[in-house]
Amino acid sequence: MQTLNSSFIESLREILPDQYIIESEEGKLQYASDHTEDLKFMPSAVVKPNTADQISKIMKLANEYLVPVTPRGGGTGVSGGALPIEAGLVISMERFNKILEVDQVNRCATVESGVITQVFQEYVRESGLFFPPDPGSKGSCMLGGNLAENSGGPRSLKYGVTRDYVLNLEVVLPDGEVIWTGKNVTKNATGYDLTQLLCGSEGTLGIITKIVFRLIDVPNNELLVLIPFKDNSSCFDAIHSIVQLGIRPVSMEFVDQTSLEVIEKFYQWSGLHESAKCYLWMELDGDTMDVTFDKCAKIGNLVVSHGGFEPLVAESDKEKEHLWTLRHKVGESIISYTVFKDIDTVVPVSKVGDLLQRLEEIEQQFRFKAACFGHIGNGNLHIQFLKEELSDEYWKNEIPKAVGSLFECVRDLGGSLSGEHGVGIVQKPFMPLIVPKASINLMKQIKQVFDPNNILNPGKIF
Ligand SMILES: Cc1cc2nc3c(=O)[nH]c(=O)nc-3n(C[C@H](O)[C@H](O)[C@H](O)COP(=O)(O)OP(=O)(O)OC[C@H]3O[C@@H](n4cnc5c(N)ncnc54)[C@H](O)[C@@H]3O)c2cc1C
Repeated sequence: MQTLNSSFIESLREILPDQYIIESEEGKLQYASDHTEDLKFMPSAVVKPNTADQISKIMKLANEYLVPVTPRGGGTGVSGGALPIEAGLVISMERFNKILEVDQVNRCATVESGVITQVFQEYVRESGLFFPPDPGSKGSCMLGGNLAENSGGPRSLKYGVTRDYVLNLEVVLPDGEVIWTGKNVTKNATGYDLTQLLCGSEGTLGIITKIVFRLIDVPNNELLVLIPFKDNSSCFDAIHSIVQLGIRPVSMEFVDQTSLEVIEKFYQWSGLHESAKCYLWMELDGDTMDVTFDKCAKIGNLVVSHGGFEPLVAESDKEKEHLWTLRHKVGESIISYTVFKDIDTVVPVSKVGDLLQRLEEIEQQFRFKAACFGHIGNGNLHIQFLKEELSDEYWKNEIPKAVGSLFECVRDLGGSLSGEHGVGIVQKPFMPLIVPKASINLMKQIKQVFDPNNILNPGKIF
């Protein structure tokens, strides 16, 4: 691990009080990992600034001493973006935790980037407005991390992803300059869109310190429906028909049989129907409750005609919360069950059936079992290869080949490397499979313009 030069540390102490510079092994340990597999990289030091000016000074110093810097939000990332793979400094954004303003007239809010997503959602809802992005990790991830990964979550089917709600960003560039990327307006046709360039840049182009988010009306009359299906293909057929019927659910979440078997091991939930092989969680809303119920009835009829079983309809907040908890338990159950490899596939929704058919062949070829769940309405499925009883050696040798085969299939179906988890370090080897060389070169040149010394989150994406 890189040891930091004593004069570098001395200069850091002029920028931040001692208590916000962490050098002890114990103190640094919690910043050495995130939620990505079992990866661990110790930083040389962790700093906890709370102003853009402090970050600006830190970046100028890091450039002078060529010390790598890794920004970190809530540390819930699953592609390794916040891991300090070249040691150096981790900048924790946890003290950027203020909601600065909710502007009712312009329907926007200004926040610091270390605000926890759920805290922000609840705050704006109390003000009668709505911030739709809702990653499953919302209780611990931060808004800056959501933007850096362009996070989604179940509601993105109807309401879009984090980038769809950002108007303007305060960013500290790698050389320490502080800029606002745009204006607090809902239309802007003024040159290149730096705000959108920063979205999904995984902490490689700048450190986001403040965000202005666009807000919308609170949706009304929501229902959650849980639908059991006799097999995957009847579920996919039903989804295609629902879309063709012109109904736009808020979310459509899929959970396959292997995932159900794993949940059952930990949560004694054996499903709604003994013959069900997969489930669809579907949230609906409407201008009135009658409209929502009407959509629900149409979907119910359609589902039964496609081999689905009687749906369970949750109306009260308590019932909905219970069903959503079950959906969110899938990931937790897999973590508790076995070592796994998570792949965040995304294909056009019409190709999801083809993807899962090819997955079955890959499972047989490599002898891995795969659990598959996620945001099927967006064609975004989290496929998790499970190690179970396989030997460490077999797992280590064969898993990259199985992942490579899966990504080849994703590419052939017109899909992409990641729907919402980002590239980070774990998907990086597969970038050339999906992204054309010319595009990767362009991305590298953009990085070079922003960060000529390659000190901000080096080694990520490409
Ligand atoms: C249980 C669970 C459920 C999840 N569910 C979802 C889901 O439904 N949808 C989804 O999209 N993702 C989901 N995720 C993945 C993860 O929560 C998201 O990627 C989230 O947006 C990461 O936010 P964070 O604050 O934890 O960022 P971190 O993990 O700390 O960092 C992620 C990346 O952002 C960069 N970064 C962080 N803050 C800043 C900043 N202020 N400026 C610049 N760069 C920054 C880091 O350098 C890193 O590259 C889930 C993860 C878990 C563990």
